Amino acid sequence: MERQRVMILGTGPAGLTAAIYAARANLQPLVVEGDLPGGQLTQTTEVENFPGFPDGILGPQLMDNMHKQAERFGARFVNGWVTSVDLSRRPFRVVVDGKDTYEADALILSTGASAKMLGIPGEQELLGHGVSTCATCDGFFFRNRRVVVVGGGDSAMEEATFLTKFATEVTIVHRRNELRASKVMQERARNNPKIRWVLNATPVSVRGEGGKVTGLEVRDNATGQTRVLETDGVFVAIGHSPNTAFLNGQVELDELGYIRTDGVTTQTSVEGVFACGDVMDSRYRQAITAAGSGCKAAMDVERWLEGSMTHSWSLAEAGK
Ligand code: NAP
Repeated sequence: MERQRVMILGTGPAGLTAAIYAARANLQPLVVEGDLPGGQLTQTTEVENFPGFPDGILGPQLMDNMHKQAERFGARFVNGWVTSVDLSRRPFRVVVDGKDTYEADALILSTGASAKMLGIPGEQELLGHGVSTCATCDGFFFRNRRVVVVGGGDSAMEEATFLTKFATEVTIVHRRNELRASKVMQERARNNPKIRWVLNATPVSVRGEGGKVTGLEVRDNATGQTRVLETDGVFVAIGHSPNTAFLNGQVELDELGYIRTDGVTTQTSVEGVFACGDVMDSRYRQAITAAGSGCKAAMDVERWLEGSMTHSWSLAEAGK
């Protein structure tokens, strides 16, 4: 089994930026692509807020560029999904697709988070064509349009409030009468004259015509009756799940289930294991913040490897 100096798990902006930096530091990282190579951005269309692209860039193109840039400096990629890791011993072990085992001195965890979806008809088909999971990314496209935001948590309140900057009307659809969101976020949304409320209503299907969203069918939970809310966009804001199942409890998570890192660094609770991007960030979740933390992770790894190598060398010297 070939021993790697560093393996990077996940190829969103965090993982690929870590790969670029680690490769340029001559660490020849081995990068496991995951089941969605390129990450969440490959599911969006135009990205207009990534610095350096004044005319915007397509999400898949941006990720492809990052991939090529990492390859150019010597990063190697394996296709597959990390099914388990063993962090109890060094070198660490990484199992891909349940069959291929790799060994690595250091690991960067950048497996991201997945937006929870409603799982109703029309949702997947119209994703990126009116259905979105990110108001910051897509709100701009709904200037002078009507949109619906689904959810009753802080994300839904935040997204709805943000969307009022563009949309003529924002309707929050929530499955209960009570909101889960914090008081301050609720009040901000309640005081916004552009926001309408459809509470105690369950989304049933996303309606579309000509490849574009035209409405959201909802069922009134009190009466059982369904109706269609006419809208140009449906923002699903029912939370995210960080992709941490493969860690099987070996790394400390925070109270929301995201990987806990030490202060401003990317060091996790296991020495030699670093985390970056959405898998450790429940707050910002932007491509650029993920990329920034990927850079930090690669620098932390480089420093840590240098330190641990110096350490084992001086121990060997001392033992002479
Ligand atoms: P969340 O608090 O888990 O809220 C998810 C919401 O979606 C809940 O209202 C839930 O309904 C609803 N929901 C879940 N599954 C659904 C389904 N299948 N169909 C319909 N509705 C569904 O998630 P979040 O709003 O993303 O927040 C996550 C964490 O990040 C929270 O701790 C939050 O405070 C934090 N956050 C903070 C800020 C901020 O402070 N600026 C902004 C965003 C997020 P129920 O209420 O009925 O369960």
